[in-house]
Amino acid sequence: MKETSSVVKSFKESIFATLTKKAHKNQAINLSQGFPDFDGPQWIIHLAKKSLEKGDKHINQYAPLEGIKSLRQIVSKNYKKFYDLDYNPNTEITITNGATEAIFSTILALVNPGDEVIIFEPFYDSYLASIQLAGGIPVPVTLKTNDFKWNSNELREAFSSKTKLVILNTPHNPSGKIFDTLELEELSSLIKEFDTYLMSDEVYEFLLFDNNIHLPPATFKGLKERTVTISSVGKTFGLTGWKIGWTCAPESLSHAIRMVHQFNTFCVNQPTQDAVASALEKLDDYLPGFREMYQKKRDLFIKGLKDCGYNPIVPKGTYFVMVPIEEHTKLNDVDYCTELIETKKVASIPPSAFYIKGDEGKKYLRFCFAKKDETLKAALKNLSS
Ligand code: PMP
Ligand code: GLN
Repeated sequence: MKETSSVVKSFKESIFATLTKKAHKNQAINLSQGFPDFDGPQWIIHLAKKSLEKGDKHINQYAPLEGIKSLRQIVSKNYKKFYDLDYNPNTEITITNGATEAIFSTILALVNPGDEVIIFEPFYDSYLASIQLAGGIPVPVTLKTNDFKWNSNELREAFSSKTKLVILNTPHNPSGKIFDTLELEELSSLIKEFDTYLMSDEVYEFLLFDNNIHLPPATFKGLKERTVTISSVGKTFGLTGWKIGWTCAPESLSHAIRMVHQFNTFCVNQPTQDAVASALEKLDDYLPGFREMYQKKRDLFIKGLKDCGYNPIVPKGTYFVMVPIEEHTKLNDVDYCTELIETKKVASIPPSAFYIKGDEGKKYLRFCFAKKDETLKAALKNLSS
């Protein structure tokens, strides 16, 4: 029999799936994969129930491939309101099956075989797989711990005439870093000098602490016309299973993205789009309570980790925290993660899975604190035992 695709043969199971399974198998508290262990807001779930019953509007049939109009309109309205960014809902916004499909469709739409794509490591794992499926060449730039800044020389050297696309994630998983104005200006000038595109993954845009603000790269001069901005509602509404995301990009890029999306999934679950469209109208009322809840969880978990003798890197956003392990063990991240699962019954993520060049990931574990307070307290109790 002939072999399956050589690119696909090189793929392993995602670290998130592996660790969640390992946590279950060992009956460990699962602080690995990023998802809440509590349900999303009941008022949004109620909206979805109402949407499902609008059958006379063909809501339970195929949606338009670009997404339903009401959802594209509210996404557009929110970019204007929060960031003063103008996106035409008809031609510049496309609804996708979560940010993961937005990432895949964007990369497939922009990258030719042999094109170079700059990625900052540690990175979200789907970037690399999507680049490889497109035949692109990943060019990693390592964010140096503990402040996760790039080295300016390394960044400049990563750019070449073959660079087609740069991928940035802010707020950043796994570090919790928010890229600041100076960093974004530096990156922006290289993107313009080398005439590349930017894919900006902003799925944690509303999950910020200590009054930090989110800076979408598309707001920087000259970047909007070459940027695909991606977000989704999984984190914002605590409904990671709903998989509603989107891309915002100039018309020509959006057209290319829609062509990939069309032949991959064609369209996105329509009742859920309808519910999300209504829920996004209420962001102003919803966000303060959402932020307060996660700020409390972050503070509880950080204090607990400190009480256990760890020295966590306090995240400015996201629901992850990176914890240096060198003072605690001679083991690398993978082995220490296994030890904690087996002996303390607490699962985390070994971040070396998010690197292809540097080995800094071996010195950390990533914990997710999107969990009930009782789950976090139980995990801390186990870690301190
Ligand atoms: N980007 C980043 C940085 C993520 O952490 C995640 C997953 N949690 C995604 C994209 C995927 O988002 P979605 O669940 O909407 O596909
Ligand atoms: N982004 C999530 C995390 O970082 C996981 C998403 C997934 O499992 N694909 O944990």
